[in-house]
Amino acid sequence: MNVYDTRKMADVLAGLGYEPVETPEGADMMILNTCHIREKATDKVFSELGRLREHKIAKEKAGGKMIMAVAGCVAQAEGDFILKRAPDVDLVFGPGSYHELPEMILKAGGERVVNTDFPVEDKFDALPGQHKSQGPAAFLSVQEGCDKFCTFCVVPYTRGAEYSRPVQAVLDEAKMMVDGGTKEITLLGQNVNAYHGENDKGQTTSLGALIALLADINGLERIRYTTSHPKDMDEELIDAHGSIHKLMPYLHLPVQAGSDKVLKAMNRKHTAESYLDIISALRKVRPDIAMSSDFIVGFPGESEEDFEATMEVVRKVEYQSAYSFKYSARPGTPAANMAGLVREDIKAERLERLQKLINEQQLAFNRKTVGLTLPVLFERKGKNDGQLQARTPYNQSINVPANERLLGEIVGVKVTEAFGNSLAGEVVTEEMTLKSA
Ligand code: SAH
Ligand code: SF4
Repeated sequence: MNVYDTRKMADVLAGLGYEPVETPEGADMMILNTCHIREKATDKVFSELGRLREHKIAKEKAGGKMIMAVAGCVAQAEGDFILKRAPDVDLVFGPGSYHELPEMILKAGGERVVNTDFPVEDKFDALPGQHKSQGPAAFLSVQEGCDKFCTFCVVPYTRGAEYSRPVQAVLDEAKMMVDGGTKEITLLGQNVNAYHGENDKGQTTSLGALIALLADINGLERIRYTTSHPKDMDEELIDAHGSIHKLMPYLHLPVQAGSDKVLKAMNRKHTAESYLDIISALRKVRPDIAMSSDFIVGFPGESEEDFEATMEVVRKVEYQSAYSFKYSARPGTPAANMAGLVREDIKAERLERLQKLINEQQLAFNRKTVGLTLPVLFERKGKNDGQLQARTPYNQSINVPANERLLGEIVGVKVTEAFGNSLAGEVVTEEMTLKSA
């Protein structure tokens, strides 16, 4: 979401004549776009600001001016406090108000500005269209905010109430992206499958129905969505995985924990069993679907037995990948006041066990694809010369020796080798088929 927001800020600023630069030295403006989800991310903000201010000081010494801004969820949560703690910051604005950057910049010429308003609806209306190419695989925000209030999470406070963009606005933006060369779109939202945008007739449209409409766009080849909540995996969306071939066989569906006691304390509104049932239903309509998840270990009150229930869910699902985190108490959330704190060393030890299992599963998944020929989308140049980086339908990253003219193309590639986090492969061409025949 922050990657998407950053691009959008660049689009807004392009209207004022700004353009992105590679390094902050000498820039007219720096924006630090921040994340508040865990303490570690928030802590980094002030150390990073300390580092960045050197560029502002240098520019001022040389007689220039540099606007220093803090954006994103830390800006939303900390507001004025950032101005107090970081005296060089001119501008603080949350994720709901970056479309107002032109006005804010004007004001910031004379005073320090804090903007933590939430006019989300206006934001999407006010943002400029995507005139520049977004690249072969790009994000498209369809939903923002969250009304779920999981007890550990700051998102409902920093991103505000749930909002779905109207269907036509999403379709228009998607078409513009495809015209610019985008082949794969990942629909974005904090709770993307809670999407319930209105169509032109004023009817509420679900994410499954929205995906069906997007699939009709010529030239759009691949659709993904993230992040979903188990509670909102309705039948229409599950069925879409079976019937819409442009919808990729990969789903990031966070479960957080495997113990129903912990899930209840987290206010997740689902059980381990209902989560596993969803995956069974998905695998019924799309047997090869690759699953991914988020996990939190060491939530207040988590016993060894509760943690073992998490491990059991992982063993049952066999993930393609997963992200796991130590529980981090966030100010203002209900869990921050819960009893039963789990010791740091126990959290670390559980995290290690979980990640070991996940890594094994990830490698096993990757190994299973060796020998297959998969359609991959070439997204960017690889780290090594003569190599391109692509993505398989299962969201695996694959490095392939290939000509740069294949960038942005979907090509058949045979998987030759599997590693923990990536694959290696080679382009399957007719020429090769002839040679080997
Ligand atoms: N909307 C998504 C998650 C958004 S936050 C969902 O409902 O699943 C992304 C991930 O950060 C979460 O899935 C969770 O695993 C992690 N996370 C959020 N708050 C956290 C906290 N306080 N401590 C540790 N991890 C956290
Ligand atoms: Fe946070 Fe996701 Fe829960 Fe919303 S559903 S509160 S974003 S973890």
